[in-house]
Amino acid sequence: MSEQVPQLQQDPQQILEHVFGYSAFRGPQQAVIDTLVSGRDALVLMPTGGGKSLCYQIPALARPGCGVVISPLIALMQDQVEALQAAGVRAAFLNSSLPFNEVQDIETALLHGELDLLYLAPERLLQPRTLELLTRIELSLFAIDEAHCVSQWGHDFRADYLHLNCLHEQFPRVPRIALTATADQRTRGEIAQRLDLEQAEHFVSSFDRPNIQYRIAQKNNPRRQLLQFLRDEQQDNAGIVYCLSRAKVENTAEWLCQQGFNALPYHAGLPAQMRAEHQRRFLREDGVIVVATIAFGMGIDKPDVRFVAHLDLPKSVEAYYQETGRAGRDGEASTALLLYGLEDVVKLGQMAAMSEGSEEHKRQERNRLNAMLGLCEITSCRRQALLRYFAEEQLEPCGNCDTCLEPPQTWDGTQAATKLLSCVYRTGQRFGASHVIDVLRGSENEKVLKFNHHQVSTYGIGRELSANEWKGVVRQLVVRGYLEVEGEFQGLRLTEACRPLLRGEESIELRKLPPKARGERGESRRDSVAADIDPADEPLWQALRGCRKQLADDNGVPPYVIFHDATLRGMVQAKPQTPDQLLAVSGVGDSKLERFGEAFLTVLRESQAAPVEE
Ligand code: ADP
Ligand code: ZN
Repeated sequence: MSEQVPQLQQDPQQILEHVFGYSAFRGPQQAVIDTLVSGRDALVLMPTGGGKSLCYQIPALARPGCGVVISPLIALMQDQVEALQAAGVRAAFLNSSLPFNEVQDIETALLHGELDLLYLAPERLLQPRTLELLTRIELSLFAIDEAHCVSQWGHDFRADYLHLNCLHEQFPRVPRIALTATADQRTRGEIAQRLDLEQAEHFVSSFDRPNIQYRIAQKNNPRRQLLQFLRDEQQDNAGIVYCLSRAKVENTAEWLCQQGFNALPYHAGLPAQMRAEHQRRFLREDGVIVVATIAFGMGIDKPDVRFVAHLDLPKSVEAYYQETGRAGRDGEASTALLLYGLEDVVKLGQMAAMSEGSEEHKRQERNRLNAMLGLCEITSCRRQALLRYFAEEQLEPCGNCDTCLEPPQTWDGTQAATKLLSCVYRTGQRFGASHVIDVLRGSENEKVLKFNHHQVSTYGIGRELSANEWKGVVRQLVVRGYLEVEGEFQGLRLTEACRPLLRGEESIELRKLPPKARGERGESRRDSVAADIDPADEPLWQALRGCRKQLADDNGVPPYVIFHDATLRGMVQAKPQTPDQLLAVSGVGDSKLERFGEAFLTVLRESQAAPVEE
């Protein structure tokens, strides 16, 4: 295999095309790259999947010398370096996992000017030995990835990051770029200040993730709902299913396996070795579903996660945004599905109340939970609400969330709410939702009879709604603060807020349940990548995926390091038959063409030659 000599390709546009195989820059990429190429500093705020890496990888190739990338997670470093090497870039990383002789080889290459990009953890960089080494070579730039790690308020604080301002003092002529996907404003200010980047050019992108479809549905039979979602829309796709408890993680994974899916559990209680193995399989194999607690996700840079499904309510909008954000880093259509119900509202409310910490802390947790519930219950565009939460105004409804796609119906729930509240009152404000609903619907079950509740005035006055519909009413009244859930038996109790409603001075609009559970939609909405494939091309698509998997296994890398889904889809559409035609497909650069081109062309040619079924 011939050596690539990328430093001869000095023009960013050329590098974009030949090394990375893309035809155009995205968003602010070009402006960021120009800033660095001309020797100035940059601070880049871009959502996950926005394309931050190219912002420093291209200038590092365009400028003379080696670019140093500071990254907090060893796993991610290895990922990036593998992907760069596959594209023919001379990249390496130094960290404590490497044997001494490999470290020496890399240092030698560095001193001989044979590296274009070097990845380091901050603690490694700050060692006197490393800093000394860097003074002896030509440097093209410093890139500080995950720059929010300097923020002491953030969740990923790394003390070493605070010392990174020394780069500015020791290497005043080397341009620096700091990058983060953190949306909140306070953190931005801190990054600029702590890293001495106030003079830098700031590039702030929208935090919207337009390729993620947000869907929040009421939980009625969560397993059936999940199954339908997976079967209708996500066949063969990789995804994450989040659950709150370890036990639920385990039995959900087991059940998914019984249903024929390739599902693996992941939570902090599993042996470290098993966790590492499950994470490895998620990265390396096609179509693996990980069922996990929130312990899973940090440091997972897999670009082709096609869905994130929550079977329990996240604790805050921040958590929801971060967890759903793990879908679709590659910019391809992805889905975030959340199923939630009354039991989540009750459980999380109780967890907040019982949590350690001051009253103030509990109040804040309660507020965060309420904001999350607000997002679940709104009848307008979810994306607008989500972005507004992060102080970003989006003028138009998005057209790609459940409320935009199937606007929820509302109904005048005043009478139903009044019946429910009265029934809670008549039964003594200590019974849980299902008992109150039994009374309203005139059930003759044992518990109703035992407490003589068939004799209260509200007995049987609510037969017009199903038990499920009543549950929806209870949930919405709890979320809006008319009812509280209390104690071990989760008894419902009225709050002060009920008075105007009970006196008939207030009316209330409630969200209708969707006509039937999702999936009775007839034409199912198929958003997966595979769904964009013409059925006639399905065999070709599968053959290309098989070819990719084979090459990935041969090279010991994850499939997406060979080519992303978008690139395979480009091949299906264009059906290239020659190397030049293949090069025109987005994501195919010179080096990948040389290394993998023939294998894919063989598959493509065979599929063209295949005789048509008589
Ligand atoms: P981030 O680090 O911001 O999460 P990445 O740098 O990993 O995002 O890029 C996300 C995806 O977008 C990657 O698959 C990358 O190859 C792709 N990408 C980035 N820039 C471009 C571009 N200009 N054209 C096409 N694809 C791009
Ligand atoms: Zn919308």
